[in-house]
Amino acid sequence: MTPTGLPDDVRVRRTVLISGASVAGPALAYWLHRSGCAVTVVEKADALRDGGYPIDVRGTAIEVVRRMGILPRLRDAHIDSRRCTFLDADGGTVVSLKPSAVVGSVEGQDIEVRRGDLAALLHALVRDDVEFLFGDSIDTLDQSARGVDVTFRSGRQRTFDLVVGADGMHSHTRESLFGPEERFHRYLGYCFAIFTMPNTLGLSRELVLWNTPGRAAALYAVGDHDELHAFLNFHRPQPPLGALRNPDAQRDLVAGVFAGAGWEVPGLVDAMREADDLFFDTAGQIRMPHWSQGRVALVGDAAYAPSFLTGQGTSLALVGAYMLAHSLAAHRDHTAAFAAYERDVRAFVAMNQALVDSGGATLFPTTAQALEQRDAMLRDLVTLPSAPLRPAHSALTLPAFAALP
Ligand SMILES: Cc1cc2nc3c(=O)[nH]c(=O)nc-3n(C[C@H](O)[C@H](O)[C@H](O)COP(=O)(O)OP(=O)(O)OC[C@H]3O[C@@H](n4cnc5c(N)ncnc54)[C@H](O)[C@@H]3O)c2cc1C
Repeated sequence: MTPTGLPDDVRVRRTVLISGASVAGPALAYWLHRSGCAVTVVEKADALRDGGYPIDVRGTAIEVVRRMGILPRLRDAHIDSRRCTFLDADGGTVVSLKPSAVVGSVEGQDIEVRRGDLAALLHALVRDDVEFLFGDSIDTLDQSARGVDVTFRSGRQRTFDLVVGADGMHSHTRESLFGPEERFHRYLGYCFAIFTMPNTLGLSRELVLWNTPGRAAALYAVGDHDELHAFLNFHRPQPPLGALRNPDAQRDLVAGVFAGAGWEVPGLVDAMREADDLFFDTAGQIRMPHWSQGRVALVGDAAYAPSFLTGQGTSLALVGAYMLAHSLAAHRDHTAAFAAYERDVRAFVAMNQALVDSGGATLFPTTAQALEQRDAMLRDLVTLPSAPLRPAHSALTLPAFAALP
């Protein structure tokens, strides 16, 4: 007999639908498949999304990818940036440092890769074992004692034992279950625009960051490519709600904020106006009292986005996926599993979300005084023997992964 009380031959595979095929979704799919579940992943994009901006995998999340067997391939894909140079208002160099010294990564252990490279690796790992439905999404969820009846946008209808929302910061799964995002979104006082532009400055394997109080412009040369990742970030006490769904208003807002700026900023603003891949958003976190309701749970940014200001979104997504699958493997009752997932992961999430406070991001000081202090701190880093490590990155020890007998 099994813990369900059913003889082995009567036990059926648990069916799980995951919404979202970026980081948390495929990572969860991998571990659920390993524990014997039949997994379906639905992704609203027509194909795997490639988006190339760099993301970090650090601390406990390194152990997750090692257990998935993809650590060597991620090390091959590691972006080995040479330096991070901070510029003043006129473009003069304030200080040039190793990137790891700035963000508290452990050199030789923590990894920085293009987001698209990580998503592709995760997808390749599970695509033969897991059903992927691209170009579709969940329309309605109807829970009952026997499962979750799902109607997809395409019109197809299926029933699953469990559903997990891994559909990011602006999760539709969260909204349909728990209500509007505003209830859980904690605005951190910044807005940002990212886009790619030609590498006319000849930058190579480096990050250049220009600051004035409340404004920052960055160019990131990943490898020796012809393209740069450009980033314009600015402080705003209240979120610009009117601009959030209007690309023209976003462009005007950013151009207005950076009018009159020095260094290469006018060129960045021109490139932003031309960019066909502009992504504009506010920096914020998702904080929820619970990450599940009935047979539906959330993982990754959908449940606990820490914001890019912490650099921990991907690591939380990988660790959260592992821990959720571990809890489901350890408990046949999903209510107990979801409770264990929350109990074991919440402190880790809280520590990482606490790495940044509203308007207090180290890389983006909002006052002249804060900028001076930040620059002095960076100059000190040049002479420090090692980077200031962030204990939050490694604050969770992973349990062994064991499926129910
Ligand atoms: C500018 C910027 C810089 C960043 N820098 C870093 C960094 O340095 N380090 C770091 O660790 N993290 C960084 N992040 C954050 C990181 O990208 C995310 O935290 C991480 O990818 C979380 O993964 P996720 O799978 O939970 O969500 P996401 O990566 O957001 O994926 C959600 C997926 O769900 C899909 N989806 C959305 N809605 C639906 C729907 N209704 N139905 C089906 N599918 C849907 C989306 O298409 C997407 O594929 C950065 C983010 C930004 C914006």
